[in-house]
Amino acid sequence: MSTSWVVVPTCLPLVRRRCHTCGSEFFRPSGKFRVNANHKLLDAWLLVLCNGCGETAKLTLLERTNVRDIPSTLLDRLHGNDSDLTAELLQDPLVQRRSRVTLDWGDAWRLDTGGWDHLDREVIDVSVRFAARIPIRPARLIAEGCGLSRAGVERLITEGKVVSMVRLGSPLSGDFTFTLKR
Ligand SMILES: [Zn+2]
Repeated sequence: MSTSWVVVPTCLPLVRRRCHTCGSEFFRPSGKFRVNANHKLLDAWLLVLCNGCGETAKLTLLERTNVRDIPSTLLDRLHGNDSDLTAELLQDPLVQRRSRVTLDWGDAWRLDTGGWDHLDREVIDVSVRFAARIPIRPARLIAEGCGLSRAGVERLITEGKVVSMVRLGSPLSGDFTFTLKR
């Protein structure tokens, strides 16, 4: 019998970026966008605030893009400071690369295991799905989902009692499956 777990974001992640004013390493999403129109060309940014001093920084979304090339639904969402759009764009690898930022999910996620029935079984097959691209070590998820200590999971891995196609000790943000035999 197979069990499904889901890694779910609980709030927006922090943006890792050095503040030029106070030296803080983290910014938080402001929930706002800025759109500048110059004739037919449009620039758009996602605004983030320094965790230390509150300074605003801009993450580039659109650069001198012709208005005709931008879906009107996207424009509406930018103008309306759509909160789901903030979450989507922060996770966009292109947006991260362009502004040279990475995300820090810290405790901004939880693991939904759909109950604890699996704990009674000798062998469990689990498929883990990520509702957002949140890099986490599978070993940490297994510890949390099975109510084990990190050392306990490490021991099961060493003893070959946890089997998976992925590297359990390296951060991963994509779906994977594993089998645990006690
Ligand atoms: Zn600052």
